Amino acid sequence: MVITAENFFQYSKCPRWLYLELHGDSRQKTSPSDFLLRLKKDSLYFEQQVLKTIPCCVPQYEPGNYYQGMEKTLALMQQGVDWIAHGVLFTNNFLGIPDLLEKVPGNSLFGTYHYRPVEIKSGRTRRKIYLLQTIFYVHILEIIQGRLPDHMGLILSDRRQRLIPVRENYPYFQQVLQEIEAIFQGQEVSPFISSACQNCPWERTCVAEAWEREDISLIPGLSRQAKERLKNQGIIRISQLAHLSTRALRWFQQGSRGLSKRIKLQAQALASSQTIQMKRFFLPEKKVEIFLDIESEYQRGIIYLIGVLVCQDGQEEYRCFVAKDPIEECRIWQEFLAFMAQWEDDFIVYHYHTYEPMVLKKLQVKYGGEEDLLQHILGNMADIHKFIKDHLVIPTRSYSLKEIAKWLGFSWSNHKANAHQSMLWYSLWLETAQQQYLDWAIEYNRDDCLATKVVKEWLINKVS
Ligand code: SF4
Repeated sequence: MVITAENFFQYSKCPRWLYLELHGDSRQKTSPSDFLLRLKKDSLYFEQQVLKTIPCCVPQYEPGNYYQGMEKTLALMQQGVDWIAHGVLFTNNFLGIPDLLEKVPGNSLFGTYHYRPVEIKSGRTRRKIYLLQTIFYVHILEIIQGRLPDHMGLILSDRRQRLIPVRENYPYFQQVLQEIEAIFQGQEVSPFISSACQNCPWERTCVAEAWEREDISLIPGLSRQAKERLKNQGIIRISQLAHLSTRALRWFQQGSRGLSKRIKLQAQALASSQTIQMKRFFLPEKKVEIFLDIESEYQRGIIYLIGVLVCQDGQEEYRCFVAKDPIEECRIWQEFLAFMAQWEDDFIVYHYHTYEPMVLKKLQVKYGGEEDLLQHILGNMADIHKFIKDHLVIPTRSYSLKEIAKWLGFSWSNHKANAHQSMLWYSLWLETAQQQYLDWAIEYNRDDCLATKVVKEWLINKVS
């Protein structure tokens, strides 16, 4: 058994992920998405840029020969070099390759100094996973140098190093390490279906298994802790949970009465494959219906595409406002406002979830625009997601647009398409100027508008 930092990453995403990496059938695993590969490449590039600014020694060893790597690293530590990049820390059970080892004063087996790990991450904020992986290196260092460093270092996107005290984070690390060791020894972990599954290579396996087992983690809103408590009482299937009283469920979930009631209804909907209507509802009828969807890019923090599907007199037309360069964000905002100014009253803007109105308000703050017009648009917007959540319980495992529209039979033109992939296509367009990338991003946006329309029309049919 050799535990690596990668195992901590998998565990922190989902203990089941680690379990499947160790004991699952690797043929069932899917390849990482283009977006994840790109993130990895970008963070590697960032790390290399930071390392260029630090005068560090790198141990030279045959690739994969970690015993040799450890010997070379140990030699550098014994010499007392100030910085070691990609040193190999290898003991009987642990293998770690921290981005940097920094020499600091304080006695150890090496003499009057010791080393602490410093990790380089392109993220903006300190995350639990960064801390766990870095303490893992601290743990191996303690074995090698005979003392625990007081601090560990973390360099984030601003390229500044922050020092994090080791001792206050150590108990949590030890608890996680124990759980990881138990999983290594074969302790089974059942799936917990959540938004984390979207970026997991085992999603296909877990979701299929969860449906087959009628697993309660398919119920949106049920917490991981509640699932464990229910499991300890032998409640593992959706149909069992559907028969629990709201009162009992409230104890398991330890949440509000409203949430417990919702979870029970959700279990009933899933168990019967039927939609449950909680309240009567109606949707406003307007002459012009506009389905709005907006795409943003996370690295530059810009809006690059505002898409609208306009439906009027039985005709539909898709329009998009595209920033072919990030500096065009202001222009597309102004064009969108000018486009929207043509409708006075008899229109409604449908969107899915809270993102679109939030972006419109942000763009107004950033670039200005006629306040009355913005208020007029906001006052005529309707959130389909909120509408569904307020009135219906649907037999799906989430309430995302993708999940519900697919459940209704809608399919996206490009099977790879999702918000992350669209961001990647936009970045590739900026880097290569190949029109195909921009076309794919536009096609994805148009499909999101169409999917919103499909869901809205299904709602109308439910009313009539
Ligand atoms: S698909 Fe979900 S439940 Fe399965 S291992 Fe991945 S994150 Fe965990």
